[in-house]
Formats: sequence, C-alpha cells, structure tokens
Amino acid sequence: MNLNNILNKEKINKDDICILLNLKDYESIEKVRLKAYNLMLKYVGEKVYLRGLIEFSNICVNDCFYCGIRKSNNNIKRYTLTNEEILESALWAAENGYGSIVLQSGERNDEQFINKLVDIIKEIKDKTISDTLPNGLGITLCIGEQSYKTYRKLFEAGAHRYLLRIETTNPELFKKIHPPKQTYERRVECLHLIKEAGFQLGTGVMIGIPGQTIEDLANDLEFFRIIDADMIGMGPFIIHSDTIYQKMYDTYDIEKRRIYELSLLMIACARIYLKDVNIASTTALQAMYPVGREMGLLFGANVIMPLLTPTYVRSQYQLYNGKPCIDEFSSECYDCIINRIKSINRPIAYNEWGDSPHFNKKR
Ligand code: SF4
Repeated sequence: MNLNNILNKEKINKDDICILLNLKDYESIEKVRLKAYNLMLKYVGEKVYLRGLIEFSNICVNDCFYCGIRKSNNNIKRYTLTNEEILESALWAAENGYGSIVLQSGERNDEQFINKLVDIIKEIKDKTISDTLPNGLGITLCIGEQSYKTYRKLFEAGAHRYLLRIETTNPELFKKIHPPKQTYERRVECLHLIKEAGFQLGTGVMIGIPGQTIEDLANDLEFFRIIDADMIGMGPFIIHSDTIYQKMYDTYDIEKRRIYELSLLMIACARIYLKDVNIASTTALQAMYPVGREMGLLFGANVIMPLLTPTYVRSQYQLYNGKPCIDEFSSECYDCIINRIKSINRPIAYNEWGDSPHFNKKR
C-alpha cells in the first residue's frame, strides 16, 4: 500500500505501523511527521506541558542490565534528597508556572521509603495551593513496581499520575535485559494495579534495544492501546558505560542515527495510532542530538520534563551516558527549555496540570 493511502486512513493497523517505521527517506518521514503533528493539534492542542523532574533518590533494589543506577553498579555515589530539598524544588516549580512535577527514583519497596514519599506528596500538595494552582501542583510518580496497597496509599496522598515503562513488550527481549527476578508478567500486572489504584497511567519503551525488531515496536504501540495508557514516554536505548552493553559501543555508534530516527517515528506513530494521549519528548532524545527534544515535539509530542533535581546530585542519576543538563541549575534548564519550545513556535501551558484528553474522556 502506498504511503498516502496509509496516512489517509481513519485507523491504521499494525501492518501499517511496520511500513511507517521502516521508512528511511526524508520526504516520506516528513509526510508522517506532518500527519502526526496535525493530529496532535486536533486531539491534544498545540500547547506544551511542563513536568518538572525531581530525581529524588538513585538507590534501587533492581538490577536492570542496561541501567546506570542499578544496584550492582558500585561506581556511583548513592543519594536520597531530604524532604526539605524535594519541597524546595517543588515550590520553585510552582512559583515558575510549572503545573506539574514528576517525582522519580530508583525502586524501593520498604515502608520507610513509601512513608517518606507519602509525607512529601501531602506536603507538596498542601504548600502549592494558590490562586493560580487551586489544586496544588499535579504530581506524577515514577518509582517502579509496587503493591496495590502502596499504589493506593500514594494515590490517596495526592499523586494522580504514574509512569512505569514496560521497556519492551517482547517477553523474550524483556528477559534478556532484566535479571530473572524481574519478570514481564509482574510488570504488566503492576500496570493494571496502577490503573486500579486510580492513577492516570503512563508507560513506554526503549527504542533500539539490541535484538529488537520493527515488529516488536509495532507490538509496543498495540500494547499501549490495549492497556489503555493515558501517557507515553519513549526514548532511544543509549548505552551506559557501566553496563554489559559497553562492549557494543562500536556497533551502537553506527546505528545511532537510525535509532534516533526510529525514536521520532515511534512518537509520530503513537500520535497517529493513539491520537489523544499525552506523549513526552524525552531528554534522551537530546542526548542523541542537540535539538532532539524540539524534534520530538515536532513529531507529535506535547510534554517536556525539564530537570529540577538539585545540581549537586545530577551527575549521580544517569540511567544512560551523555545525559544533558547535568551541570545546570533549575533556572538555567527553565530558560533553556522555554527558548527551545519558543524556537518551534509552540505555546507553553503555564500553571496547568495538562491531563491527557484520553484520560479526561474516561471520567
Ligand atoms: S531502570 Fe529503574 S528499576 Fe531498573 S535498575 Fe534502573 S532505576 Fe532501578
């Protein structure tokens, strides 16, 4: 089927997605981008929503093979921010017009950790209520696999969105990049528990995992539809030097350009296929290409997550090598992001939660 026919369809299918993801020439990719951009305008609007990202702890009980902060990496200094430090970053976000923040950390399931989080969520909600933010800052959590009871506790404390990437929906590939203790089945179960607990659900995958096929990526998009995700956060697979993938650096360098291109095509296909979800243009895109995040927005994304983590610990939170913005202050990140968004003529949604229309429709 020719490209125009696919792009003119009301609903594309998995075979169509494979054809779109296989495109390599500039003209065809530009057609896909334009289609995705117009659907973005129609279904979620042109505004870009800001989610201030606070990476509050790099301690993790897991050992994902690709991750720079996995528990067996002894080359990093572990940290956990105090509640005062987290609150300070959150207040800064509220004062500067960010409608929402993301609290992200490595995974911990102990009571002390969860109780700390419950306390800080309540405090942030309490202290950020104002005329401009009548319900306080929107809070998204990204702290991994937890029990239903924990998810519910965190939701009741005031967080209302949760991100948990499936990473890949190919169970065999999932097995290859995780130790046996971390299973695909449990990850899927947690995604259901997150929804049952009341959260808006965010998930996503890495693009360019060694051994991943175009069909796997098309299946990933199909999975997002079936699980009924409200938010999507996908990023290129980038090698961290303290992982088993280090030896693949040479081949990775050759494939880098294609992984970047595929990451943008995945954003566009997610927009064309799912239409009204929120899609993040992730920092990892910028790690691959200096204007990667702007390109993500031009391919149909509508969310950006500027770093709010205090500068003195940023270098200790690197899931992959080459993460940008690690030496900057929050105010510098803010100016930089605002200018990047302005450079592509997109308005910024100040003081708005920006929940996905997909979720709002279900209420
Ligand atoms: S990807 Fe997440 S869960 Fe896995 S080791 Fe890294 S921080 Fe921990």
